[in-house]
Amino acid sequence: MITTPNTLKTSAARQFVPRKFRVFTDRQLDQIPALARLDADARFDMQVVANVLPFRVNQYVIDELIDWDDVPRDPIFQLTFPQRGMLDEDAFARMAELLRASPSAQQIRALANELRADLNPHPAGQQTLNVPRVDGEELSGVQHKYDETVLFFPSQGQVCHSYCTFCFRWAQFVGDKTLRFAAAEAGELTRYLAEHPEVTDVLLTGGDPMVMKTSNLKTYLEALLAPGLEHIRTIRIGTKALTYWPYRFVTDDDADELLRLFERVVDSGRQLALMTHINHWRELTPPIVQRAVARIRATGAILRAQAPLLAHINDDAETWARLWSDEVKLGIYPYYMFVERDTGAKRYFEVPLVRAWEIYRGALSGVSGLARTARGPSMSAGPGKVEVQGVATVHGEEVFVLRFIQGRNPAWVQRPFFARFDPQATWLDELEPAFGEREFFFEPEYRAMLEQAAG
Ligand SMILES: *Cc1c(COP(=O)(O)O)cnc(C)c1O
Ligand code: SF4
Repeated sequence: MITTPNTLKTSAARQFVPRKFRVFTDRQLDQIPALARLDADARFDMQVVANVLPFRVNQYVIDELIDWDDVPRDPIFQLTFPQRGMLDEDAFARMAELLRASPSAQQIRALANELRADLNPHPAGQQTLNVPRVDGEELSGVQHKYDETVLFFPSQGQVCHSYCTFCFRWAQFVGDKTLRFAAAEAGELTRYLAEHPEVTDVLLTGGDPMVMKTSNLKTYLEALLAPGLEHIRTIRIGTKALTYWPYRFVTDDDADELLRLFERVVDSGRQLALMTHINHWRELTPPIVQRAVARIRATGAILRAQAPLLAHINDDAETWARLWSDEVKLGIYPYYMFVERDTGAKRYFEVPLVRAWEIYRGALSGVSGLARTARGPSMSAGPGKVEVQGVATVHGEEVFVLRFIQGRNPAWVQRPFFARFDPQATWLDELEPAFGEREFFFEPEYRAMLEQAAG
């Protein structure tokens, strides 16, 4: 049973006992004692889904974040454990039938791969459009979509302390190597950056780069501090370790060394930003998380938070209002509210765009201005990050007002555009231009970019 304090207490005086990291994957589902509470059918359903979508959960999440008296409704249970509705009925039935027939591992893999191929494993043209080159050679593990910011996927950071059931990077966790952004050497990355003075931000992402030992992380971060890279002003690290494994920052063997490394980056005059991924305020309640935040802040690094809006997990305004308020209280800046991407288990988590906007608005209007800093609801789509600004009626036509927060062409940014109102639409590609126009203003140019990339 989880007890949720009403206020976030500082935990400065408290000693924390180190915890050994223990993780369960799809093969060990039946070894999780807490699941014994569920009936056999529910456990079988989980097994079916876990053979198609990634599953990995650690003991801390099981013990400290899930309220087992509220399962299956519990948001963190939904966030980490497979649910039947994540597959469509046909896909579910096929895998269930196979599993009942004592299949070989090879048969399971073959069907799993077939079913995964139907789940749009490559959203937003990531593989064809954003791959940068040095001397004509493609750089693996690097994505450069928007001028200012380069994404880097260090190869040792391509797992997470637990997997989120909705993850848009799910495909790389189920062994499909063609989907993995296995990383370039730090040397290749810095060579690319040296040739690109327009880049101000490097974002280390994954998976979760914080699964790396400090010694590995140091290799990458120190490379970014080298002479010739003074134009890199900000280093961001995308992570969910703050709430999936806060011990990383407090009691793990190399936690202190990690904080010294953060200080080095800050001392170089750059901003170090931990881009934390927090889906529900419950994740922030354990005292160890609050200690982790305090320790990170003491290094001069800052914390921002982002998360998608998800059915079954956080699809109401009160949850977001509390999430943003609790973040601000701890010193974490709310940054983005995302729309769940068009991949993987989207069918289970999707929320209509109009509903997303209502939730955003409802949450924002109930919190202090300092907690109103998250932009959204934002779709990370092929052409860019598109925000739903609202619904309006213009000359009798009901429309969505949209804008690019980021665009593949910077000239698209902050230009309002309009789509016909559609109460069911959940993603950009389901929207039609308003006012009888044939296409959105950016479409001819975006099409040309795709054609050029295809050769
Ligand atoms: C969101 C995103 C970024 C960072 O954009 P900011 O608005 O600067 O946070 C960079 N690259 C890609 C591919 C992204 O999706
Ligand atoms: S922590 Fe991030 S990358 Fe890892 S599974 Fe969750 S959403 Fe995906």
